[in-house]
Amino acid sequence: MDIIDRAIAHTCIRSWGRSAMVHEWALAEAIVSYVKQKIDHGRRVKSLRIRLGVLQSIDREILDFALKTILESENIPVEKVEYIDEDVRLRCRRCGYKWTPKLDEVGEQIREAIHFVPEAAYSYFKCPRCGSRDFEIVSGRGLSIEGIEVE
Ligand SMILES: [Zn+2]
Repeated sequence: MDIIDRAIAHTCIRSWGRSAMVHEWALAEAIVSYVKQKIDHGRRVKSLRIRLGVLQSIDREILDFALKTILESENIPVEKVEYIDEDVRLRCRRCGYKWTPKLDEVGEQIREAIHFVPEAAYSYFKCPRCGSRDFEIVSGRGLSIEGIEVE
């Protein structure tokens, strides 16, 4: 844990003081604890596929760096890590319309808010057909493990 804390501080300084990367480190830790459950000691992971919800604008570079750093410190060999983007789909609860919000059109501040709290999306998006803010996030949030191949 100590190593991770120091690495976070280091990364933050190098990345223009943005604090967002702490979240990627937390996600990387969650992935590693999942991987640990899946492998017996001494076995290696051939490939790990991670699905990233586009809504949360997870910084793939930071996540990848964090993940590889933690895996290395835990002595878990992973041959290949793949990332798959999962598109955002929203569905209006009032009229049933399904759509993909245009994330490029909201500002960076809003994207950052959604990055930490996906529920923040409810304040920024509304149904393009009926204007309702009562919608569900069908896909595109969070992070999930799509597949893990153990040797
Ligand atoms: Zn609607």
